[in-house]
Amino acid sequence: MGTGQPSPTARGTFPGFSEEAGLDLPALTPRLEQQITARLISRDFDAWATTAARVGHCAKPIRLRGHSQTIDTRTGEVLSTFSSADAPLGVLHVRCGNRRASECPSCSRVYAADTFHLIRAGVTGGKGVPERVSDNPLVFATLTAPSFGLVHGTRNGRPCRPYTPKGLPAVCEHGGATVCHATHNEHDELLGQPLCRDCYDYRGHLVWQWWAPELWRRFTITVRRALARHLGVPESRLPDVVTVQYAKVAEYQLRGLIHFHALIRLDGPKTDDGFAPAPAGATAALLAQVIEQAVPGVTFDAPPMHDGDPIRRLGFGAQLDVRPIKTKNRTDDPDRELVPEQVAGYLAKYATKSATDSTKENPHLRRLRATIAEISDRIDADAREDGTPLRDNPYGLLGKWRHMLGFRGHFSTKSRRYSLTLGRIRGRRARFQRLVAEANRQGRTLDVRDLDDLLADDAQEATLVIGHWSYAGSGWETEGDAELAKAAAARAREYAQWRAAAFKAK
Ligand SMILES: [Zn+2]
Ligand SMILES: [Zn+2]
Ligand SMILES: [Zn+2]
Repeated sequence: MGTGQPSPTARGTFPGFSEEAGLDLPALTPRLEQQITARLISRDFDAWATTAARVGHCAKPIRLRGHSQTIDTRTGEVLSTFSSADAPLGVLHVRCGNRRASECPSCSRVYAADTFHLIRAGVTGGKGVPERVSDNPLVFATLTAPSFGLVHGTRNGRPCRPYTPKGLPAVCEHGGATVCHATHNEHDELLGQPLCRDCYDYRGHLVWQWWAPELWRRFTITVRRALARHLGVPESRLPDVVTVQYAKVAEYQLRGLIHFHALIRLDGPKTDDGFAPAPAGATAALLAQVIEQAVPGVTFDAPPMHDGDPIRRLGFGAQLDVRPIKTKNRTDDPDRELVPEQVAGYLAKYATKSATDSTKENPHLRRLRATIAEISDRIDADAREDGTPLRDNPYGLLGKWRHMLGFRGHFSTKSRRYSLTLGRIRGRRARFQRLVAEANRQGRTLDVRDLDDLLADDAQEATLVIGHWSYAGSGWETEGDAELAKAAAARAREYAQWRAAAFKAK
């Protein structure tokens, strides 16, 4: 990696990717080393390697025992049977399906790819979404969190905070500076850290994060209301004229606060199959204007966390970015336009991250988690004192979301009619695999020219799979196996990247 364009050697093999090439394993403890060695020389290594390859080198596969039959729905004939006892290791392994790259690199890549396709389908059509959807007005918006105190930042190569903000002394009451003349590079550990942690409003920060999903909900309502006003229809009749669809992801900033990135699209009237053309007058420019005007007015009065805590009026930060997306029929604002692939890739990447993936451990994050613990203790004490159950306190579960720094929303969500669902994408993949297996069994070529028809979810599927399965555990037998699987997944990925690069170079 990172050594430039790989090239074939004289023998036609490729450096680093041949059968003999080693795996890049992380620094190993003696125990891990012993486990890995034991696996490599074990008699069932081939069975293990086959199993690992079948689950795409998932780091923590789920083990199932049982059996299933594939039945032809027209004739009732049993086409095939499968039992976990026939699997190479005598038990069926299936992917863990984890979204997070830090948990399972392999499954998170599948998740990212699926997310990419479903986000892209909502922009350009495809995968069962009509192409005409690309004519509908579409913008990419980033909604930010407000400031809870001065933090260090890169500022595009300019000095961090050269001036003391208006109304603040040059030195805070804790003896900390309110200016920073340094120019931070992107790897600087200070990035996102407060200039003074004692000045930073940790409680306000956490209350905002806790209610961020509510702010988003209010934002969508405000946008619909404003649209109704602009189009001159009563709000209750808006769905007869225009509907708002979106796909959004939450991304952690270095300061431990999330931002929302969203694709927001205007469709025509609500219909059963969705994606109707937007009415005349509903343009990307109007949508962008409506969003820009709506955001500052979105507020929520957050209830106190415990006795003596104030009510806080929450809103989004002043930083707001709204841009039209370029699709084949639109050229609203060429300078600020984004390409669909860019945006879909961007959103898909963030969908696989979490609090701990995007930010390194540091005193600021520790303080955030300590504040959550402190608040939770206080809430518990209040509950014990006056006997109100924890579930009645809107912050009763805050402690449970400590690892997410208090964000309890979903990382990637979309409205019902934005595009297809992850479930449908997975269904298409399963059908594809079944079609391939069927073609192999009958010894014929799979005609991929009408693949879209073949993969369309059809209630009258020709085959039905009936199975009885029970959970037998999760994860590989040893930590060593998990490390081997991860290393193999990384190698497979490097190979895919190398192949893609080699292809391009031709
Ligand atoms: Zn996995
Ligand atoms: Zn600084
Ligand atoms: Zn201070």
